Amino acid sequence: MVKTFREREEDIVRCNRCGFCEEVCPTYKATGEEFSLARGRNRLMRQSMEGKLDLTREPEINQHIYSCLLCGACVAACPSSVITDTLVKAARAEITRANGQPFPIRMALRGVLANQRRLTLGAKALRFYQRSGARWLARHTGFLNLMGSLGKAEGLLPAIPEKTLRDRLPQLLKKPLKPRHKVAYFAGCMINNFFSAVGEATLRVYQENNIEVVVPTSNCCGIPHEAYGDTEMHIKLAKENLDAFSRYEVEAVVTDCASCAHGLHSYAELLQDDPHYGPLAAELAAKVKDASQYLVEVGYKKEMGPVNATVTYHDPCHAVRGLKVKEQPREILKSIPGVKFVEMNEADWCCGGAGSYNVTHYDLSRKILARKMANFEKTGAEYLATSCPACLMQLAHGLDVHHLPGRAIHVMQLLDQAYQNRVVRNKAKAG
Ligand code: SF4
Ligand code: SF4
Repeated sequence: MVKTFREREEDIVRCNRCGFCEEVCPTYKATGEEFSLARGRNRLMRQSMEGKLDLTREPEINQHIYSCLLCGACVAACPSSVITDTLVKAARAEITRANGQPFPIRMALRGVLANQRRLTLGAKALRFYQRSGARWLARHTGFLNLMGSLGKAEGLLPAIPEKTLRDRLPQLLKKPLKPRHKVAYFAGCMINNFFSAVGEATLRVYQENNIEVVVPTSNCCGIPHEAYGDTEMHIKLAKENLDAFSRYEVEAVVTDCASCAHGLHSYAELLQDDPHYGPLAAELAAKVKDASQYLVEVGYKKEMGPVNATVTYHDPCHAVRGLKVKEQPREILKSIPGVKFVEMNEADWCCGGAGSYNVTHYDLSRKILARKMANFEKTGAEYLATSCPACLMQLAHGLDVHHLPGRAIHVMQLLDQAYQNRVVRNKAKAG
């Protein structure tokens, strides 16, 4: 079982207040406030542990604990190996244990995210809102201004597809004649409902590479529940997903959502003391791979058509620091003929999306996003590629509000495009 906040004392006291985290903490760079910095957050948590403050009763402390992006940049930079992101998650779990969740958060986590049917119904309602004229009305009557943070974040929503990825699976899944590998694909909530085109591209790319794909019926990975301190639901979802995936004999479990990959990895620690689920979770953690990571590991077809464009890459926090996946997506992008790859300054700086952070902390998230957009603009690229749907949503919003002419795209979509362009070129040659 993951250690509770009270069991984390020896982790917190390791912070020696050296301030090495100052240069890398996005919330500190955006606000300049000491308590928006890893060091400041650690100080608050330490004082709470020493009984000088009560973490669970002071809304002001609460606010600093919840404004952390959990991006992990401070952890990577810390000479004392202070695991601030883990400590913040433990503090949030402590706050939740003491006070419960605010009703809207509880509804979102338990009523919607943990129930795929309701989530899909919600996505369909959003699609209706986008296409029926209700969106136009809400935007032009000032209704959105009344909705607070939710109203501000409304522009983040991508165009919701008519069908979910799961709806399309019967047409998409084709068993290769002689598959050289077999994997299970984890269809995350955002990919399934909001970015089904990304999931379709991933499935096509895998099958194109002679890899058989099965898609177990899974639930949310639980990472939002962990981030909001709902340990009970995190455990429940972990067990459901382990039940679903352990039925399949596969070499790897792949996902095109860096956050889901990180979430599936988290089960090993979460359930390590469980005699039944502990070994299943450890087995799953060893198999979970980011979609680019696995393709580079097993090798992928290099015969492609050209994608003539300048491309840069944004590292999702959960990929680069969570999974340590950095080179593989770049390797894939650089292998596409016609692609001119340009490295972006601070490519691994958080974009401010951080799951639902861009909804709950819209203004701060926008400040963090502005830095990313300034860096993107300097590259002169047409495509801003990434490996996580939450980043994709945030980056697309950034390009929109900063009026930049680029397009946010998933690495698998560009690779899929290159394979399709080869087919088009071959047909043209034959004709
Ligand atoms: S969190 Fe690490 S880097 Fe930041 S002040 Fe503490 S010891 Fe230094
Ligand atoms: S996890 Fe990110 S936002 Fe939170 S304290 Fe560390 S660097 Fe700052």
